[in-house]
Amino acid sequence: MISRNQYIANLKAGYLFPEIAKKRREYAASHPGVKIISLGVGNTTEPILPHINAALVEGAKKLGVLEGYSGYQDEGLPSLREKISEVFYSGKFSIDEIFISDGAKCDIGRLQTLFGAGTKIAVQDPSYPVYVDGSVLTGAAGIWEGNGYAGITYLPCTAENNFFPNLDAVPRNSLVYFCSPNNPTGAAATCDQLNALVKTAIDRGCIIIFDAAYSEFIRDSKLPKTIYGIDNAASCAIEVNSFSKPAGFTGVRLGWSVVPKAIKYSGGESVNADWSRIAGTIFNGASNIAQAGGLAALDSEGLKEIRALTDFYLGNAKIIRDTLVKLGITCIGGGNSPYIWARFPGRDSWEVFQEILEKCQVVTTPGIGFGPAGQSFIRFSAFGHREDVEEACKRLEKLA
Ligand code: PLP
Repeated sequence: MISRNQYIANLKAGYLFPEIAKKRREYAASHPGVKIISLGVGNTTEPILPHINAALVEGAKKLGVLEGYSGYQDEGLPSLREKISEVFYSGKFSIDEIFISDGAKCDIGRLQTLFGAGTKIAVQDPSYPVYVDGSVLTGAAGIWEGNGYAGITYLPCTAENNFFPNLDAVPRNSLVYFCSPNNPTGAAATCDQLNALVKTAIDRGCIIIFDAAYSEFIRDSKLPKTIYGIDNAASCAIEVNSFSKPAGFTGVRLGWSVVPKAIKYSGGESVNADWSRIAGTIFNGASNIAQAGGLAALDSEGLKEIRALTDFYLGNAKIIRDTLVKLGITCIGGGNSPYIWARFPGRDSWEVFQEILEKCQVVTTPGIGFGPAGQSFIRFSAFGHREDVEEACKRLEKLA
């Protein structure tokens, strides 16, 4: 018999969200008829807005006629890559530095194949689970040591450091994952903080994978929406981004990665050339229907729809945050991100999760699922219908 990939065996537990879904199912089974409301997952709930949706429909229709039909798109529609460069990066990147993907998470997984099993990894702690779990699958994370993986440097983001890590701990020649606005803390890094991150990466021979999946939720105009707003970032940072949260494309699947030609490995080889090779080897491009929708999302009407949709979720975030503050619970996030990170000092986060489920019939996400520094925190997600968020917040008052 063929043996199991040893790296899969190294995965500590079930992926966080299936674990939460299991607990929800168990509660529902023992409380039939009770309506459970989820403020737990980061899945979008609101319909795609009309202008963008019409482009998706039109994209599908075009495939049914000879003049409109298209097949493989490889690295993505040139017009979409050009538009992304113009809208998000002031035209700074050529289209062969922008790669259209089927989503940021998928690219985060594939990007790890550039670096291999011997790579040192540094992550914000807490962080979006795929950075760590993907590193486990490539072998870079090593084995589980009780409170973390041997090959990963966890960079704690705590109330004490205002949720920005101490960069002195970043190992030389490492791959550094950084997400801003962060999932789960909701913290959005300032220009000074990102400057320090880029400087550290350059000084120590690191490459940053910068996850900007929530950049369209930033409302404070002083906060950077992309790492490339920082001098010299194009020599050390890959940026991944997505249409999932701003345009409601979680099920449509569309994102992009920027891999600047200026980034080199220690031997001087081009990271961009390798990424192009990998994209052509294990990925055959994003759906052309999704890309038609993506193009519409970036014209003036589409950008207005993105603003309206992100405003809606930020409105939910404000309702949740105001409720928690009224209850005397310390929290951050929610102003420039759809997540609120709430602190329950001295408590175990799975235990708080269970208490909220049982007292309020509201599903949340236990902070410990995002890394050791997430202990005693709960993540509240603003992705939900307004009436459900309002009802959930009424129920949360039972925590008083
Ligand atoms: N990056 C972060 C930080 C996320 O929170 C998520 C989804 O929750 C993703 C990426 C996934 O994006 P996509 O749907 O484009 O794969």
